[in-house]
Amino acid sequence: MVVTSSGDTGESSTEEDGSMVQSLSDLNREDIRRGLAELLGAGKVCVDEDLLRASSVDRFKKYMAVNGVYDGPIPAAVVSVGSTAEVAKVLSFANEHRINVIPRTGVTSTEGGLETIVEDTVVIDGSPMNKILSVDPVNMMATAQCGVVLQVLEDAVRLQGLTTGHSPQSKPLAQMGGLTATRSTGQLSTLYGGIEEMVVGLEAVFPDGTICRTKNVPRRAVGPDLRHIVIGSEGALCFITEVTVKLYKYTPENNEHRGFLVNDMDTGIAVVREVVTNGFRPSVCRVYSEEDAHQHFDDFDTSKCVLIFICEGPKAIVAATVAEIERVIAAYPHETVDPARIEKWFKGLNWGMDKILAEQETMRAEHWLGFTTEISANWSDIGEIYRAAMHRIRTEFPYAGDLTMLGAHSSHSYQTGTNLYFVYDYKINCEPREEITQYHIPLNAIIVEEALKHGGSMVHHHGIGKYRTQWTEQEHGSSFYMLRTLKEAFDPNGIMNKGTIFKA
Ligand SMILES: Cc1cc2nc3c(=O)[nH]c(=O)nc-3n(C[C@H](O)[C@H](O)[C@H](O)COP(=O)(O)OP(=O)(O)OC[C@H]3O[C@@H](n4cnc5c(N)ncnc54)[C@H](O)[C@@H]3O)c2cc1C
Repeated sequence: MVVTSSGDTGESSTEEDGSMVQSLSDLNREDIRRGLAELLGAGKVCVDEDLLRASSVDRFKKYMAVNGVYDGPIPAAVVSVGSTAEVAKVLSFANEHRINVIPRTGVTSTEGGLETIVEDTVVIDGSPMNKILSVDPVNMMATAQCGVVLQVLEDAVRLQGLTTGHSPQSKPLAQMGGLTATRSTGQLSTLYGGIEEMVVGLEAVFPDGTICRTKNVPRRAVGPDLRHIVIGSEGALCFITEVTVKLYKYTPENNEHRGFLVNDMDTGIAVVREVVTNGFRPSVCRVYSEEDAHQHFDDFDTSKCVLIFICEGPKAIVAATVAEIERVIAAYPHETVDPARIEKWFKGLNWGMDKILAEQETMRAEHWLGFTTEISANWSDIGEIYRAAMHRIRTEFPYAGDLTMLGAHSSHSYQTGTNLYFVYDYKINCEPREEITQYHIPLNAIIVEEALKHGGSMVHHHGIGKYRTQWTEQEHGSSFYMLRTLKEAFDPNGIMNKGTIFKA
């Protein structure tokens, strides 16, 4: 572990693997805890060593964590905030004393965004801010505090025949603050869009304690859209306290499911492209590679790719969308899958605590891990990225023999292109501490490199976190100037989630 700090400029650097950074605070660990307790009351400042250790990582280091290995700095405290005013107090205190802070809500982060690489970090837990503030069926919007679990909000609006349309697989656990901070997307995104298209307005607190609230209106032309400074900021600019999202009519009785076996990824993607660019918007469009399909549908022909559509909305729109899918697929060799099979499969996709615990058990017992890297590209580039990344992993990755599954699926499509969600599972033949460097980092790197080489984006929806920061500048090119300037302007003391989005 390397510590490199150039002293009082606030500039410090880490190894690519998220190594430790020295605290720049003028307070020591005990003083930080004391100061927080004076601000909020001791009951809101958790210093339990087990909880602090668990709070030093997220799912990027899930195999190490399940084996009890925590090799980074352990945070000084986890503080529970109950109001916007409390968030402002904690941030002002941290800013004054240059204490690194990490906002968090549902703790489902996968890219190291919650990893505490700075000594004596304070984790600010927004999950107690869990009130649904309003559901407005006339203006079709709902407002929730950052700690509202998406599933809870969804269940509440469904009581009024409405839906948020947001359905990430982590819906039972992820909360509105984190979902907004990561630019999350859901399984129904081809119809409803990602969170950036759902957020009507929001409230956020900046490091100096300034509270900003944007207006909930359908559209405006009053300068740049300030929501987009906050959406996707991954806790590196501000703390999101409240989010207002759009609502849609919920009509599950109209849903139609379709599934097909096709010969290859190119065919599946070509069908999706044709349907989408012809102006139709199924809520779900998915194409699974042979290997990835096999792990979901092991009773299907394992040499085929699986193409899936779900159509929802008003009956007439659903009927027209289904007709278009059937018209397009008819031009390609395919077999039809029983729609009931697709419907049943889709219902089991989400992840609650039960699946997380079962996964931990498997990791512990079988020294096995499954991970993902998601990228996006235009229609004309996506096939080449798929082939190039798969080829490089199979031929260059020194531990390819440990892979038990290597596949990918396209699951979010747009007028101009689609995403690819690479999925890789491996047996771990090394110490838990080395899992990240031996397997995950090199696999991630190949996929990111190929996406960037072919003009794609290195991250589709999980956020940059701390393990893709070495490519942030390359990803943004000349526009990195704007991103860096935002960081310098809003977080001049560099206290917000150091090492996330930006190199530490
Ligand atoms: C099983 C599983 C399935 C998943 N499926 C999907 C999926 O389908 N689509 C998808 O997009 N993602 C998915 N994810 C990733 C993850 O659920 C999302 O990134 C989600 O948006 C994180 O929300 P959270 O509340 O858990 O945030 P956290 O894990 O608590 O935090 C995530 C990031 O956001 C920042 N943050 C959290 N709260 C705040 C706040 N109030 N203010 C400012 N910054 C904040 C944190 O600092 C961190 O960088 C999945 C993860 C898992 C484990």
